[in-house]
Amino acid sequence: MNLVLLGPPGVGKGTQGARLACHYDIPAISTGAMFRDAILHGTDLGHTIQQYRIERGEYVPDDIVIDAVQKRLSEPDCANGFLMDGFPRTIPQADSLEHMLQIQQRRLTGVINFAAPLETIVKRFSGRRVCPNDGSTYHVETQPPLHAGRCDLCHGPLLTRPDDSPDVVKRRLEVYLEKTEPLITYYGKNNQLYTINADGTTDDIFQRVIGKMGSLK
Ligand code: AMP
Repeated sequence: MNLVLLGPPGVGKGTQGARLACHYDIPAISTGAMFRDAILHGTDLGHTIQQYRIERGEYVPDDIVIDAVQKRLSEPDCANGFLMDGFPRTIPQADSLEHMLQIQQRRLTGVINFAAPLETIVKRFSGRRVCPNDGSTYHVETQPPLHAGRCDLCHGPLLTRPDDSPDVVKRRLEVYLEKTEPLITYYGKNNQLYTINADGTTDDIFQRVIGKMGSLK
């Protein structure tokens, strides 16, 4: 299974991605999580990315993102498949993913496009909490941690992502519409797109995806 998850920020790609990766036994590759981790640990990539204001909702330049994904995709755990969450986000990124896969004589199994009303997306943003330590994600109402404000895995304090503040969310949605939404047409033309109604509970949405993707390998 070589999967790409598409959809606006806050639609629930990270939550579904973690479940789907577990279900299909493939690694979930989140470029956003890779970048946050690189910044947290002060790596070279982290220092480079810091100048691009991701905390304000701006995209990292294509060449940097593509290089990071290329390195990640060549790691052994991706040999039997992968799930991309947050990549590609632009047409040049989609073209280079296609190129990377061609070289490895692989192809995308499918692109899952999560669609939900704006109201749902805004609700998901406002309740989202993350663990800065291990990247796990919670929602105060729909997916609360066992102990309020504490990560189930490392027990550290949960935070609101700085780019989940209302003004940055507005900018992220604008950038999504301008640069990422055209990918729906891009993948639609290749008959690779599976659109999923992402309104509802985590379980319902997961079942809808499995229902659509179940027969694909
Ligand atoms: P995410 O966790 O997917 O919402 O990503 C957080 C932020 O990281 C985004 O708002 C962008 O600033 C940056 N980012 C993540 N993936 C990409 C990408 N494929 N292209 C450009 N910027 C990205």
